[in-house]
Amino acid sequence: MTTSLLSPLVALPASLENNPLLTFGRGIAAYSEVKPEHIAPAIGFLLKYAQDAVDTATHPETPSSWEKLVEPLEDATEALDRSWGAISHLNNVADTPELRAAFGQMLPEYTAFRSNLGQNLALYQKFKALKNSPQFAELNRAQQKVIENSLRDFRLGGAELSDAEKPRFSVIQDEQASLGKKFSEHVLDATDCFVHTITDKADLAGLPEDILAAAADTAQQKGLQGWAFTLHFPSYYPVMQYSENRELRRLMYQAYVTRSSELGPQYGEGKLDWDNTHNMLDQLRLRDEEARMLGFANYAALSLAPKMANSVDEVDLFLTNFAIKSKPFAQKDYQELCEFAKAELGFTEGLEPWDIPFASERLKQTRYAFSENELKQYFPLPKVLDGLFRVIQTLFGVKIESANLPTWHADVQSFAVKDLAGKIRAYFYLDPYARPGKRGGAWMDDARGRRELANGEIQIPVAYLVCNFAPPVTVDGILRQPTITHDDVITLFHESGHGLHHLLTQVSALGVSGINGVEWDAVELPSQFMENFCWEWEVLEKMSAHAQTGKPLPRELFEKMLAAKNFQNGLATLRQVVMSLTDWRLHSSFDTKSAKGQSVLEVSRNIADEYGIIPQPEISRWINSFSHIFAGGYAAGYYSYKWAEVLSADVYSAFEEAAKLTGSVLDAKTGARYREEILEVGGSRPAAESFKAFRGREPSIDALLRHGGMA
Ligand SMILES: [Zn+2]
Repeated sequence: MTTSLLSPLVALPASLENNPLLTFGRGIAAYSEVKPEHIAPAIGFLLKYAQDAVDTATHPETPSSWEKLVEPLEDATEALDRSWGAISHLNNVADTPELRAAFGQMLPEYTAFRSNLGQNLALYQKFKALKNSPQFAELNRAQQKVIENSLRDFRLGGAELSDAEKPRFSVIQDEQASLGKKFSEHVLDATDCFVHTITDKADLAGLPEDILAAAADTAQQKGLQGWAFTLHFPSYYPVMQYSENRELRRLMYQAYVTRSSELGPQYGEGKLDWDNTHNMLDQLRLRDEEARMLGFANYAALSLAPKMANSVDEVDLFLTNFAIKSKPFAQKDYQELCEFAKAELGFTEGLEPWDIPFASERLKQTRYAFSENELKQYFPLPKVLDGLFRVIQTLFGVKIESANLPTWHADVQSFAVKDLAGKIRAYFYLDPYARPGKRGGAWMDDARGRRELANGEIQIPVAYLVCNFAPPVTVDGILRQPTITHDDVITLFHESGHGLHHLLTQVSALGVSGINGVEWDAVELPSQFMENFCWEWEVLEKMSAHAQTGKPLPRELFEKMLAAKNFQNGLATLRQVVMSLTDWRLHSSFDTKSAKGQSVLEVSRNIADEYGIIPQPEISRWINSFSHIFAGGYAAGYYSYKWAEVLSADVYSAFEEAAKLTGSVLDAKTGARYREEILEVGGSRPAAESFKAFRGREPSIDALLRHGGMA
């Protein structure tokens, strides 16, 4: 079937009739047919088509109605986004120099179109007119939410500012972008410039062979003798964990925590130009000014507009409460560590910050040693997939069957999600293995969203699940079964949780169906929720089969995994909470006007002193490399990691409660409620309402504390 993507709205010119980026219709893209030379003509055409739709929508005679305004605009922008999405997906999973160049060539135009759309005042007026029209009340909840979200985004983009204020507003945006970029460049440069070389192997006692091999490799690449260590995490952290050389650990630690500060040159060979002290203050001032221009008391309040949390105080209280509850457990962890270090490692005068990961790793080995490699033998990928599908099918009343969609690589599998009557509700792809030309990490992305078309037909959703597991190997001419680590199993469940959120939606308005329009701090709920099943014996037992013997995971090994899971979790939790609180206070109660010099550092110090456990050394300038909040889009948002964990743990505890009655966490009744109240509604109603509808009450921190061994 080769209906045009735009059919029946517009006819394609003859020159584009065979362009696969335009001919996949409302169906599935033929990824293997897409060539770099298809990109510019297709995207050029679709940009023009979308711009025409914008022009029509903003024409004075176009009525502000759902059918005349929102729908045609959605048709055109969806066509553009889907083609663009297919290309950027290929760029991520099947990169070639030619594809990258063609993608890069169109990127500025695409980005410019998107940002102009968000600042189009005429369009803003049209949406406002629709909101104020009698039709608004007749629209369904999801449609109303699409319009409200658009108006909100226009406002946050400065649409309601006066003409006198607008130039300043855009200067603020530009300066923020450039300061953020500089911040991360400074961190990168300060991280890159430091190298510490060791030539006597005796100084490297304790480091595992693979770490030594990597260090020798680094030295060779840099034209140095011996072993070289850098401040990049995969080089830095193993030294902190394993090196018995305390002096080496101290040296690396001091270089690490003084990056991009005035102390950088002293401890890390950095430059004064890379000092972020003033950059941080400048950014905080600009954010504060932006918030006030838009009518908010501070930046934290502004950042909450598209989030689930309701108020600045609510988040502050959430974090301080969390800190208070986790502090005794952190204290216990720390004490235990100090005692162990004294008795077993000879640290009679206490632990310095550079001793903590080392002592911690030794304690872990002593208590919970098991071989990761042995564990891995129990998780062949096909068996894990069966286990995952069993969980999904049991809980959510669907069937997952292999499909035969066209893909971009022979390793990629595709599946259909069917309801019990056999009707297809969604499709997804699984691209499991690492390979050249594929970006690292794991992610879920949407290929297509659920939507009711103008002719009343339902377009069903499609998602990509992408992982980077070790590919299967051939030994003595025989292809071995691919096995994955337990961490990989958790990753797969996590991404499938995002996938289910997108695929099981029943919402018909594209802007809020599936993962679209879900609040920023609630997006990780369905993904983290799924991770819990990877720690259930009833799930693991059926999901494991030793690659050689076929036997399931021994119960004894499972108990060890479980015991190791929460090792030193009190300390880890408190650390995250203190970082979140620092971010939050800097964006809410910090007075940027009277602040000067080291004020940002002082705020972080005070919070650490009040809530933390491990004293920060005088020279620590960790905040100067806190890229999440000064260069990564997590400004006033770092709390969301913990926020979503609380939600997902609390949701999961409903399944644990059901298990007390039924004997199984795979309880179909609770699963059906979760599907209806959380997954199916997507972004069509506030996450707080969805949570409450499922749980029957406000979120509580208790389940997360209990799961983390802090109860
Ligand atoms: Zn995620």
